[in-house]
Amino acid sequence: MPNPASPYRGRLAPSPTGHLHLGHARTFWVAAERARAAGGVLVLRNEDLDAVRFRLDFVAAMLEDLRWLGLVWQEGPDVGGPFGPYDQSGRRSHYRAALERLHAAGAIYPCTHSRRDVLEAIGAPHEGAGQDDEPVYPASLRPPADAPLPPLGDRVAVNWRLRVPDGEELRFLDGRFGEQRAVAGRDFGDFLVWRKDDVPSYQLACAVDDAAMGITEVVRGADLIRSTFRQLLVYRALRLAAPAFYHCPLMTDAAGQRLAKRHDALSLRTLREQCAKPEEITGKFLAEGTDGDLQ
Ligand code: GLU
Repeated sequence: MPNPASPYRGRLAPSPTGHLHLGHARTFWVAAERARAAGGVLVLRNEDLDAVRFRLDFVAAMLEDLRWLGLVWQEGPDVGGPFGPYDQSGRRSHYRAALERLHAAGAIYPCTHSRRDVLEAIGAPHEGAGQDDEPVYPASLRPPADAPLPPLGDRVAVNWRLRVPDGEELRFLDGRFGEQRAVAGRDFGDFLVWRKDDVPSYQLACAVDDAAMGITEVVRGADLIRSTFRQLLVYRALRLAAPAFYHCPLMTDAAGQRLAKRHDALSLRTLREQCAKPEEITGKFLAEGTDGDLQ
């Protein structure tokens, strides 16, 4: 039970785009353990903005799998709470309000360049970005800083990017990995806040929600460290206080490959079907500790 005096608010933010695997389970378990140790509240947010990959049956499956694992959240789409709705698909007005503030502040600009234009401008293949990361958007493709901004329109039909402060070194103190640094414009470039199919980007939605839901510590996989830098710029542009961050080491398979939703053999579903017990799984996590790298 959370201690009402504890200020800690943590969250689980799964995307219903596939079945959860052991890597997710471990990250979510660490998040739940940290909230529990702090006597805090754990929020579950369903990150269902990706209409192409989203499936309703995955929403039910992820909640069921996490409950099976023994995780307990005090706020979420299935249990309600004071900061709802907890499905991102129901939170559009929050994202739109944030987009309008970014627009009014001149922090964003419309971008009509395709991914191909970007890769060509930087001479792809580009080495700066990791395999899962977007290429660093070249400053040469940006409009001048003083170019007048067109209105957003009721229905957004063009990509909007946040202009990053080129050359500025950003830092944050990660609860697991210590000080993290990245240089804007070098390690990552202007990034999408809203897509031309009128859908907010992960970076915008995530930062807006973590702030609106009063999250004090974000626990997530280390693959999102670069996204954390982007989100720090979203917080700054919206004048919102950023939470603390704790990134978990990623789990790899026997061949050293990072686990992905395609690793069906290691999905919680499959493990359940093979009669694995939740205590065996969390017991293994516990034995390795919330701090240890898991192989
Ligand atoms: N929904 C994201 C994912 O499943 C995680 C977002 C986050 O924890 O910030 O990859």
